[in-house]
Amino acid sequence: MDIQLYNTLSHRAERFEPVTAGVVRMYNCGPTVYDYAHIGNFRAFVFADVLRRFFEFVGYEVQQVMNITDVGHMTEDNVADGGGQDKMELAGQRLKEAKKQGVANVSNPDDPYEVASYFTEAFLADGKALRLKIADEHPQRMPHATAHVTQMIGIIERLIEANHAYVTDDGAVYYDVATFPEYGRLSGNTLDKLHTGAGGRVNEEHTAGKRNPADFLLWKHDASHIMKWDSPWGVGYPGWHIECSAMAMHTLGVDTLDIHTGGEDNIFPHHECEIAQSSGATGKPFANYWMHTRFLLVEGEKMSKSKGNFYTVRDLLARGVDAAVLRYELLRTHYRSNMNFTLKGLEDSQKAVNRMRSFIEGASHGSWGGVYSGQSDVERAFVEAMADDLNISAALGAVFKWINEVDTPASEDVAALQRIDAVLGVLTPAEADTSVAPAGISDEEIEVKVRQIQQARELKDYAKSDAIRDELNDAGVEVQISRDGVNWRRKMRLD
Ligand code: AMP
Ligand code: ZN
Repeated sequence: MDIQLYNTLSHRAERFEPVTAGVVRMYNCGPTVYDYAHIGNFRAFVFADVLRRFFEFVGYEVQQVMNITDVGHMTEDNVADGGGQDKMELAGQRLKEAKKQGVANVSNPDDPYEVASYFTEAFLADGKALRLKIADEHPQRMPHATAHVTQMIGIIERLIEANHAYVTDDGAVYYDVATFPEYGRLSGNTLDKLHTGAGGRVNEEHTAGKRNPADFLLWKHDASHIMKWDSPWGVGYPGWHIECSAMAMHTLGVDTLDIHTGGEDNIFPHHECEIAQSSGATGKPFANYWMHTRFLLVEGEKMSKSKGNFYTVRDLLARGVDAAVLRYELLRTHYRSNMNFTLKGLEDSQKAVNRMRSFIEGASHGSWGGVYSGQSDVERAFVEAMADDLNISAALGAVFKWINEVDTPASEDVAALQRIDAVLGVLTPAEADTSVAPAGISDEEIEVKVRQIQQARELKDYAKSDAIRDELNDAGVEVQISRDGVNWRRKMRLD
């Protein structure tokens, strides 16, 4: 099968050819566990999941690895002057506050490992709710940076030996970018451009002892850091970029990966530096295909805590959003376009998912584990669109055109949609998700109130039944009373 993928490295779509026939080895830059991951992060992770599921659908074995960055790193402000604060330390302070208010169950927020483990669990719960297959493969396929410092030190030693890295007087180890002529190929930020000032990011670290302002940190000697390890260059901690080189090559067991993904902000400096480190150490290409997701915006704007348009998965589930609907919303825009998250969009996604669910109504929700064999026209159209650099709009367009044409779905139609759902992952209703319980009123409490409404109506006490209905409405639960009985559902809210 001919699969075309847009490769950031070559700036064009290319035919996918794996290193090993039939196998895809893929690495996704994963979450930093200093906080709950937001829906922008999850856009990147859902994309990686859909990519994996598509390759599996057409018969590949996919070895997917997504890391967990649990080493603390400094905030970007004032680092050159020795300022800044460790992000894991800040996360601990926030958790301490949350613990006082009784909203975070963490026994010791002063311990950075506990803080990391708290947010890792939160990530896994959110990831499972969004049906990310990788969340079920933790810890085998989701390596932790803190468990791979030995491998990082190994790569740094090789880089020093090969003269790609040097040690400064104060024990910092830097990558010497001038020794790697390909630096800048991925991002376009070549050294001549960086010399003339391509932006502040190259100055992200302490600059003393650097040969070139664009050189980046591999190891920082700092015995006072909250997370520290012994190394040939003194007690300290690794730079951020080296983590991914080490975890990718070690966990996948190869020097050259097929696919490496991340959000568009990862292109520079993170992935540019990963290439320099990995290829500098092995002399081989690091990844053949680089794929990057454009950012998610909220109502057309960049998401930020100060603007109040910042959403985590758990926020939205607590507001009654079905996790599968959120997944659908996050996957339905092409990954190389910005996606705009809106309430209207979520409502449209709810309708789309409802439409698919009513199509297979009555059929059991078993997941399909077979291999695509071009069974039906709709599957062929779906695969053809997805094989074109994951053209999800065309793929979904084909599915809905077909759904609208089929009057009464026969069992083979139901089976076809279920097979397609092996990629989409939205048919199973959220009721089956137990990973993240919605906040506020519980299902059991709602059921009790619904029974009270029924009793009141049997006694023709409509004032009472209306009052309970209003009460539920205020708690975010919509109650529908009809001749057939009383139905309820949680309302979606974005405010
Ligand atoms: P971080 O935890 O900040 O390292 O981010 C994890 C992943 O989410 C990275 O691949 C980022 O590029 C990606 N990411 C961060 N913000 C957004 C956003 N608004 N939209 C899409 N992806 C994002
Ligand atoms: Zn990374």
